[in-house]
Amino acid sequence: MSSHHAHSHSKADLIAYAEKRAAQLKQRWTAPRAEAYDALLDHSAPITAYALLEYLSTRHGRDIKPTSVYRALEALCDIGVVVKIESLNAFRACRHPQEDHRHLFLVCDGCGHTDEIADHGIGEKLSHAAAAHGFKTGRQVLELHGVCRDCGK
Ligand SMILES: [Zn+2]
Ligand SMILES: [Zn+2]
Repeated sequence: MSSHHAHSHSKADLIAYAEKRAAQLKQRWTAPRAEAYDALLDHSAPITAYALLEYLSTRHGRDIKPTSVYRALEALCDIGVVVKIESLNAFRACRHPQEDHRHLFLVCDGCGHTDEIADHGIGEKLSHAAAAHGFKTGRQVLELHGVCRDCGK
């Protein structure tokens, strides 16, 4: 059992939701964005912009401009369907963007597998602690590094 949340969404559901969110936020859902998002959904481990560029070039059999991948990733993060994991300088598709949640990632240093936990309590506590210092928390991405269940055997 590795499911930390009540239900997961199919790839088609996630793509439909991302398109809808893009429209709501007046962001264009361009081919590079759609292709980058589709590729990210096929990866369970976070992927760097450069690795994504290589993956997309191979998949589509053509050279893709780095700037187009960077812009697509930026837009997908703005829309809220992709999250950047700063400590890895890598990106991962959020598996339940429909739900209001903070991002808590468990990153395995052994195999790179990354689990996302939908947790409200821990994020709330941190925001309250920050507020006590007069700090208003905006984006919040928590990353815990360690060893996953498989690598810890
Ligand atoms: Zn998420
Ligand atoms: Zn592992």
